[in-house]
Amino acid sequence: MAAQEVESIFADILDRARALDPVNARKWFDKLTVLEFNGGSVGVGCPDEAIVQFLRDNCKSSFMQAAQQITGHLVTVDFSVGSVEKAGVGSVRSGPELKLHPDYTFENFVVGPSNRLAHASCVAVSQSLGNTYNPLFLYGNSGLGKTHLLHAVCCEAKERCDGAVIQLLSCEEFVNRFIRAIEEGNLAGFQSQFRTVDALVIDDVQFLREREQSQQEFFHTFNALYNNGKQIILSADSPPGKIPSLEERLISRFNWGLVARIDPPSYETRVAIVQKKAHLRGLSISDEIAEYIARKVHANIRELEGALTTLYAVARTVDKEITLELAQRALEGQIKLAARHISITDIIEVVTSHFDVRLADLQSKKRSQSVTEPRQICMYLARNLTKHSLEEIGGHLGGRDHTTVMHACSKIGQAERSDPQMHALLGELTKRITQASSS
Ligand code: ADP
Ligand code: MG
Repeated sequence: MAAQEVESIFADILDRARALDPVNARKWFDKLTVLEFNGGSVGVGCPDEAIVQFLRDNCKSSFMQAAQQITGHLVTVDFSVGSVEKAGVGSVRSGPELKLHPDYTFENFVVGPSNRLAHASCVAVSQSLGNTYNPLFLYGNSGLGKTHLLHAVCCEAKERCDGAVIQLLSCEEFVNRFIRAIEEGNLAGFQSQFRTVDALVIDDVQFLREREQSQQEFFHTFNALYNNGKQIILSADSPPGKIPSLEERLISRFNWGLVARIDPPSYETRVAIVQKKAHLRGLSISDEIAEYIARKVHANIRELEGALTTLYAVARTVDKEITLELAQRALEGQIKLAARHISITDIIEVVTSHFDVRLADLQSKKRSQSVTEPRQICMYLARNLTKHSLEEIGGHLGGRDHTTVMHACSKIGQAERSDPQMHALLGELTKRITQASSS
């Protein structure tokens, strides 16, 4: 089928989808393109990940119905990030899907003496990929903001340069994909995926140790990118020379650019971080309390956040304003903290009974509002009230991807801040959950 014909059919499908579901129709539908079109499926290219999520959450069925009506047969619809180059359908340059944490931006990163160099070098790199520090190597103990900075670089670089192809992944994922490529006999595919990007960002490269073959592959990937002036950004828990059993030639390459250390934050930085995190969650806490938390927790920012989570749960349970006294009692364990024992099951029980839905529905692929909202609320509460990772939370709710959980958390978090009704509902649910789990 000629490209023009495909485009015209796609335009008809969009019109029909708008008519079928005006509530979810958006002006920016105009920006959608058709990446792939064959008898049974339409690949829809979207400008960014947020739009992909919106369409998947809200528009899949109206698009399928529209496509079916226009083409006269059963068609599945797939949304992904990507666009069609001028040449027309067929020549698609779409970058890999970038899974960025919505909170991990430069704006949300507090700069202090402990991370100033790392932060400044990340900002510089994000403004001009491949031209400043290459490679950029960040290291520091766990929980000091390495992953946050890597996401922020990608987010900023993407903003500045829309077409930039960026791969961000954990070292483990890199290794796993490499192993899979070998097993599937598709090493060429793997190589073209990683050697053609504008920026390769790999988190926690200390996992390369004892992975001889992966180290070799990584070495060649590094060289290919470096020689083409492409950006490489790495993080690890120690400096290159201190990563056990890392090949000498990799150590030397990692030292070619800038190696920036992140130290544990100073007291002042900790106070500012607590305030920033509280603000992000729509909590207001006084300077006095932020200072108290910052004095109590030193080494790890993840624990600072944990303290805030505890406080949040306690304040909800006892339905009180957060005062210094409450904070002290909560964090010194004087209030027997139910929050510590909250399980995802507790959360699911309370939420399903409130919304009168079944767990099976939450775990199903259903996308109707009556199921999507409680599902997203479960994810949000699990994120706030338990220590489970995004992956684990997604696993409990029907094996969903961590990006889906991230999306739910930011959506419900936003609603909590802007919609008093949602704020009250979440408060009520949290109260019931903490009561349920302490009884
Ligand atoms: P790492 O990858 O070094 O183990 P993360 O990047 O996962 O650490 O950070 C742990 C948590 O601390 C994240 O929620 C992150 O947003 C937060 N964090 C770390 N440093 C800062 C900072 N300077 N400002 C704001 N939040 C921070
Ligand atoms: Mg990390």
